[in-house]
Amino acid sequence: MSSNSPQREFAIEVVRKLRAAGHTALFAGGCVRDLLLGRPAKDYDVATTARPEQVRDLFGHKRTLPVGASFGVIIVMGPREAGHVEVATFRTEGPYHDGRRPASVAFCTPEEDAQRRDFTINGMFYDPIDAQVLDYVGGESDLAARVVRAIGDPHERVREDKLRMLRAVRFTATLDFALEERTAAAVREMADQLTIVSAERIAQELKKMLVDPHRRRAIELCADVALLPLILPELSSDPSEREITLRMLSLLEQPSFELALASLLHSLPARPVVYDICRRLKLSNDETDQVTWLVAHQNDLLDAPTQTLARLKRTLAAPFRDDLINLLRVKLLATAADLQPVLFCDEYIARTPQSVIDPPPLMTGDILKSLGLNPGPAFKSLLETIRDAQLNDQISSTEQAITIANELTSQK
Ligand code: ATP
Ligand code: MG
Repeated sequence: MSSNSPQREFAIEVVRKLRAAGHTALFAGGCVRDLLLGRPAKDYDVATTARPEQVRDLFGHKRTLPVGASFGVIIVMGPREAGHVEVATFRTEGPYHDGRRPASVAFCTPEEDAQRRDFTINGMFYDPIDAQVLDYVGGESDLAARVVRAIGDPHERVREDKLRMLRAVRFTATLDFALEERTAAAVREMADQLTIVSAERIAQELKKMLVDPHRRRAIELCADVALLPLILPELSSDPSEREITLRMLSLLEQPSFELALASLLHSLPARPVVYDICRRLKLSNDETDQVTWLVAHQNDLLDAPTQTLARLKRTLAAPFRDDLINLLRVKLLATAADLQPVLFCDEYIARTPQSVIDPPPLMTGDILKSLGLNPGPAFKSLLETIRDAQLNDQISSTEQAITIANELTSQK
């Protein structure tokens, strides 16, 4: 727990100030888990006996933001490089009515606060000033044993908040831990209640799982606890098809979310199935377009070495061509097929400047119009034909392009 990022320095400063004002203040939850694992924490959460109003008074209203004041959460803004720290008053949560959110909260002791958290490894506190872990839930031993275990009765905890099912899978996979048996059983039994969770939250968890190096394990775990058919009912359950998909996932190296999702969905029709899945998950338009495009065009480079230059260059000029090549790469590797088309593309890209792959057009609609042609289907196909001639290195000047235009139009 040595390397001190600006983020961490600021979090310690927040704790120190709260303590100086007479409050108890501790690092809480995920950041404690990450510190104990020796990983950089994504964000620091501080839990305190101070009430939200007291936190705001102490740090000033300008530097604080009441994000969930009713839940006792105040954001304290740090210096630019330090980001911000969430300061939450120790709290218990009232009954859950909707399967996602508590109806009320009440302020309490650290020990009681630990009980509302989801998994033992996420339920610890750390005092950064005395360098002391406060563990009321057995988190340290589960961390050492590499186990994700619900705090308390797993059925009850899943019943309260169905999102915890996906969080259980995500933490288990990304940390490469085991999912404790009773916790896994509770998820399996209540998997069909995932429908209560919003599409956005499901997509958010799926995203975190798919960009992580353990994405294969995450999907296998989802299948294992019966969540996968609820998230993606369209996926085939054929074992050999499933195995190819899983292999593709594990072969990806630091993929974008879009590439990882396209790999997961590669055997489904791009339209309308993949497109509809993206819409259902409420992905952004850009994400939806990219995933759908990748799946639709996944085989476009399969015969790259024998394609016309025009066809090859058009594909390689596409905005997501690197993802496309990597999609084909993992597919060929996963099926033990010949990698040659991908190697050919790698090599072609390495030796070909972008200005050759996607050169400024020799012919434009404006030039065609100045030649007296009127926009329409024939006009468009003429432009394409001339573009092909250019990409095929058959012409290299606008004069030549005009000659072709005249020849082709006089033929009609
Ligand atoms: P990461 O930020 O790396 O995804 P994290 O554990 O920090 O993981 P957050 O979503 O940032 O997760 O939540 C911070 C802490 O709040 C958790 O460690 C856990 O103690 C608690 N928590 C978050 N979501 C839930 C939940 N749905 N049910 C119970 N406790 C939760
Ligand atoms: Mg966090």
